Amino acid sequence: MANNKDNHRHGGVDTCCFCGRSAAEVGMLFSGMNGATICDECVERGYEVLQEQNSNKKRRSKGAPTLTEKDILKPTEIKEFLDRYVIGQDAAKRTLSVAVYNHYKRLLAADRRGTKNNPANSEAASIDDVEIEKSNIIMVGETGTGKTLLARTIARLLKVPFTIVDATVLTEAGYVGEDVESILSRLLQVADYNVEAAERGIVFIDEVDKIARKSDNPSITRDVSGEGVQQALLKILEGTVVNVPPQGGRKHPDQKFVQVNTSNILFICGGAFDGIEKKISQRLNTRVIGYNQGAAQHIDRKNVMQYITPQDLRSFGLIPELVGRMPVLTYLQPLDKEILRQILTEPKNSIIKQYVKLFELDGVKIEFAEEVLDFIVDKALEFKLGARGLRGICESIVRDAMFELPSSGLKEFTVTLDYARERVSKSLQ
Ligand code: ADP
Repeated sequence: MANNKDNHRHGGVDTCCFCGRSAAEVGMLFSGMNGATICDECVERGYEVLQEQNSNKKRRSKGAPTLTEKDILKPTEIKEFLDRYVIGQDAAKRTLSVAVYNHYKRLLAADRRGTKNNPANSEAASIDDVEIEKSNIIMVGETGTGKTLLARTIARLLKVPFTIVDATVLTEAGYVGEDVESILSRLLQVADYNVEAAERGIVFIDEVDKIARKSDNPSITRDVSGEGVQQALLKILEGTVVNVPPQGGRKHPDQKFVQVNTSNILFICGGAFDGIEKKISQRLNTRVIGYNQGAAQHIDRKNVMQYITPQDLRSFGLIPELVGRMPVLTYLQPLDKEILRQILTEPKNSIIKQYVKLFELDGVKIEFAEEVLDFIVDKALEFKLGARGLRGICESIVRDAMFELPSSGLKEFTVTLDYARERVSKSLQ
């Protein structure tokens, strides 16, 4: 093939047979047999298409790691692992353990039948024609009670890609914010663009309560971050083939979509659902007045969260279809004084253990007096931040010591109640 700007004459002008531009408009014109020509830009474009196709093929052919039965931990083993990092929250741990175990079994069944990538067999994997449906999970509980921690801890244990996304950034397509598909972009990224691995991953969608329909929002106004997003999320949760922009977002308008089948992706949603207790209580009261008065005596009024039902999520503003797609509903208890105290000291990487380690690295042995630990817990309760507040309070107590001790030559340091009180009140000024 010769490259020659003047060779090809088409209607009297040198032109590229692909884009029709003249030799003057392009950098170089290649000519072939029978007067066929192609310009440098069309060659480049063709090369890009080939590369894209090849990388798509590679993504598919990497395959997902296959599961064997011995890879799968039993629910009690999963819970034991969670116990090491998360204090209390037994109901949520048990539910999650079973859900994750079932997710694995479902994948195993899909592998056996070779159905894992066949959208035609999407919604249910079946063993002996018994269909195992995907059971997405929703966790309800105040902020700082351990929802994210549970999800993260599960992720440490699992051999599938896992990602956490925040529902508050999601908006309906076409509005400022992220499209719902971006959830899957993140999963693809953590799966190192291995589509098959991503297709069996787990996604934790935090703050899902923030996309609830606002009851005071009349339907004639656009509910950009509410019902529209729920509808979009519904499709993904149901199990469908989604065109995912691999780089995510709208910043890369030229990127080619990757098709991801969500049928085997497990979604765990979490939210504080502020004020839902009121709705639960109202429902319980109506029931008590209506019928079944005998049951009223057994209602634990201090913790009504344990009576949560899908109906309460609907009255909070989630659309029924979405609630229906998250059949496993569980709750997290508000943290009381005793639990906060345990959280401070007991988990494998508890906050106090972390500080001890940090000082140890400087050759300093730090000790916290028992009454200091009680004081920290009382302050966390006072600030109403759940376990989230513990770290901030600890930080304000040890901040000065962290600054001074490494150069002081001291080998031991005890944090007394007076010292702690003084530091906290100083930090509040
Ligand atoms: P949520 O997602 O419910 O708002 P997080 O899981 O982010 O709360 O919790 C915030 C922090 O509080 C965590 O990083 C963890 O250190 C601590 N924490 C919360 N709940 C627990 C718990 N049950 N056991 C141990 N630590 C907890």
